[in-house]
Amino acid sequence: MKEKGNISINTENIFPIIKKFLYSDQDIFLRELISNAVDATQKLKSLSLMGEMKDEIGKDTIEVILDEKKKTITISDKGIGMSANEIKKYINQIAFSGATEFLEKYKDKGDEQQIIGHFGLGFYSAFMVSNKVEINSKSFKKGSKSANWICDGNTEFEIKESKKKDRGTDVILYINDDSKDFLNESKLNEILAKYCKFLPIKIKFGKKDTSVEDGKDKEGKPKHKTVKIDNIINNPDPIWNKNPNDLKDPDYLNFYKELYPFSEEPLFWIHLNVDYPFNLTGILFFPKIKNDFEVQKNKIQLYSKQVFITDEVKDVVPEFLMLLHGVIDSPDIPLNVSRSYLQSDGNVKKINTYITKKVADKLNDLFKENRKEYEKKWKDISLFVKYGMISEDKFYDKVSSFALFESVDGKMRTIEEYKKYISKTQIDKDKNKVILYSSDVKKQDSFIDDAKKKNYDVIILDNVIDSHYINHLEQKLDKVQLKRVDADILDKLIDKNEKKETVISDKEKESLKKLFEKIINNKTTTISVDALDPLDNPIIITLPEFFRRMQDMAKTGGSNPMMMGATGEMIAVSINGNHKIINKIINAKTAKSKEKIASQIYDLALLSQNMLSGSDLTNFVRRSINILGK
Ligand code: ADP
Repeated sequence: MKEKGNISINTENIFPIIKKFLYSDQDIFLRELISNAVDATQKLKSLSLMGEMKDEIGKDTIEVILDEKKKTITISDKGIGMSANEIKKYINQIAFSGATEFLEKYKDKGDEQQIIGHFGLGFYSAFMVSNKVEINSKSFKKGSKSANWICDGNTEFEIKESKKKDRGTDVILYINDDSKDFLNESKLNEILAKYCKFLPIKIKFGKKDTSVEDGKDKEGKPKHKTVKIDNIINNPDPIWNKNPNDLKDPDYLNFYKELYPFSEEPLFWIHLNVDYPFNLTGILFFPKIKNDFEVQKNKIQLYSKQVFITDEVKDVVPEFLMLLHGVIDSPDIPLNVSRSYLQSDGNVKKINTYITKKVADKLNDLFKENRKEYEKKWKDISLFVKYGMISEDKFYDKVSSFALFESVDGKMRTIEEYKKYISKTQIDKDKNKVILYSSDVKKQDSFIDDAKKKNYDVIILDNVIDSHYINHLEQKLDKVQLKRVDADILDKLIDKNEKKETVISDKEKESLKKLFEKIINNKTTTISVDALDPLDNPIIITLPEFFRRMQDMAKTGGSNPMMMGATGEMIAVSINGNHKIINKIINAKTAKSKEKIASQIYDLALLSQNMLSGSDLTNFVRRSINILGK
């Protein structure tokens, strides 16, 4: 018996719309059809458990078979199957009205990009890549007849009895010419790896090998063998669904390798597991984070009941935690809607808060349980902890008690411990605690050395994020200032208002200033004669904190670029009024010899900062040789 009918819809021809809509993410047709196969298999299993299905379940593997010659892809399951009536009901009416409704709703919205990939059109996504789709199905119900449904991409379908003997459903896609790409084994492998890697039923993928004959069919045509069909392409039992108590470190590390085969081992991980007020499982790994922000992002995969949805988790995971890796699986994240909806969704907000809290708790545990280990890991996690502290106040409040400062001597202290540590030494006249930091230990060596001589401590803040972090800390911490160790002479960085006398007079100071103004000949350089230690260098060149900070911020974005041009070479020159050589300049007989000594010590100061180059360097070398020759 053969029956013809019309698919009842109000949109005249839905197929071109489906094709257009989902054009940029055609891959998902496979996910949709395999998901249906998984559902049908799982339904059968539950029916069997409930005693409503008495037959043996037998093997439940789903098969995906590519036939390059016939240009078909077949998805076969051994699930509950459908009778002719059920096909008419579920495929022609329900599935179709769902698709129609969806398209009606979004047709005019113009935000196609946002919907694509977040909404599966279910069964009808098959028509994105096929010009004809066939269903061959036999229901699990006793005595039900097999059915064969064919639809060629018009609103007409044909349904008849079929010869299918065993329970389950085959969906055969006749791939259209525009979609030939999908008739490629490695392309299909790629899609399967992306969308089906953790589906809960075993999936085999194989290709009909037309070169190997396997007997003849009834009409005498050669039958072909399917090769590589034993290849199970998924892991139906991923560890995120297991009880954390049953898992050991190697289980997590192996899973990490499965997800990111080429990545370095993660530092540690969090196993997420909630069922109230929303359902969510998953594992988040903390990778070793280098300075390369962008490369690290989009490494968290979002699943819904083990079906891969997306690796753009922007709205579900707080921005700063996007640097983490791993999986999140939640049936409670609405995936079938556009992004703006996702952002305002209550569950998504709760999930966001939950993840932030979990991460903070994990860090707290590590810190409390094994401070030494935590300190060892600090370098690798500091980037995202700082990032989080800057971008989310709640996170700041939770982790600021175990964010660390590392001193140049390798000592690690929490912010509070550090404040205490410097509370006697690094206090200025206004009772501010002044934290000295270095952004480049090698370059700023002489300044660090000077600070140590004064019993000051210097911490290392040399990460790309640190210029922002420093600003943020100053806003958060009361009466605390952070100053780069080379920003000024130490007595000005930590100004204790101790009047220090110079051995030279005010008049001599004036003439020294004039002399150096002439030599330096740069209006943006500030020059001062200071009462420094006679053992300090005769001239110290520094980079004022404020201007330099603007520069640093501009490098990582987020400052006023107008400031830049003016601050290009902003330096400050401090002349040590108590140094022997300065005295020698004052007492020199001729203006020429004054200038000579002054130039020489200024160039030496520049040289020590790696700031002498070009003709200035050449002149300096020549002058030095001359002096030695005399
Ligand atoms: P959804 O899966 O969201 O319900 P679909 O359009 O993918 O929408 O499928 C519509 C219905 O067709 C399913 O709900 C199911 O009842 C039936 N169906 C689809 N594929 C299969 C299959 N492989 N085996 C049994 N039933 C199926």
